[in-house]
Amino acid sequence: MLMLLHRLRRSIPPSERMEKTRSGYVIPHQQQGDAHRRERNSGEGGVSPRSLRLFSHFSGDTMRGMWSGFFGGCADRRAQKAMSLMWTVKVVGLGAVALSLSLEALAWLHRRLRPGKILNEVLFFPSETACVQHIFTPPSPYSCFCSLPHGVETSFSRLLSYLMSASSSLDLCVFAFSNMDLCRAVVALHHRGVNVRVLTDKDYSAITGSQIGVLRKAGICVRSDINSVYMHHKFAVVDGRLLITGSLNWTLTAVQSNMENVIITEEPDLVRPFIQEFRRLWMQNDPTQYHDSSEQKAARVMGESNN
Ligand SMILES: [Zn+2]
Repeated sequence: MLMLLHRLRRSIPPSERMEKTRSGYVIPHQQQGDAHRRERNSGEGGVSPRSLRLFSHFSGDTMRGMWSGFFGGCADRRAQKAMSLMWTVKVVGLGAVALSLSLEALAWLHRRLRPGKILNEVLFFPSETACVQHIFTPPSPYSCFCSLPHGVETSFSRLLSYLMSASSSLDLCVFAFSNMDLCRAVVALHHRGVNVRVLTDKDYSAITGSQIGVLRKAGICVRSDINSVYMHHKFAVVDGRLLITGSLNWTLTAVQSNMENVIITEEPDLVRPFIQEFRRLWMQNDPTQYHDSSEQKAARVMGESNN
């Protein structure tokens, strides 16, 4: 065995043998210099493998770092822009909510601190009898030659004036409607372009002197309540802001003979429930949504044919 190792050592050139030191085996200096020279002189075009390794290192790790830094920077900027945009949207949204709440609070304060600006009026009937022609036509000394008193303000003339103040909508919910002056006012509003909707009781829409048929012929949208109980409301909502309600039926007898009351108000807390009630009844009595029994259907058809 020892002979074999000795022969192997002698077969290796002395310049390539490793020398044993205290810290281990090292390559002799001459051998290191040869290796470095081989590195410098080998390779195509005079580029040494070490240079290639350096280039590889530069074009590999360094370029990777540069590219990742470049694109990483772009990604960071995009993320920063997205965060900035998100915060802007949040701030704008919160600002809009705060503005809306502030406006609502201001409107509430305005109503509370200046109650005189909100219309509230109570009218009692029977009303004096007086000419109301000036409410329908521009005032003129020759506009009316009837025998009724002129230039007299009454509960009825005030009621008519409030009704005629409608500029966009009139939602009317009346049990009995036979007063011709009130009918004239509603038709005039319809011709003026006001969106008029009338809901009435199906039984009382057929009484003698009822003006419901006149309203329908004028092209006004009228719906009859089909419930088994009376639709006994007597209210009107003008332009979604002014409520006219009370005990008064829209009949000549109620206006000129009965003791009745009418409240006229712009108080939002009072107007809003009436708007909701009208909307509920209007939807409930939509003819396209009827699902009643055959008896109810026959009664409804008979009631509509009588109008
Ligand atoms: Zn007159």
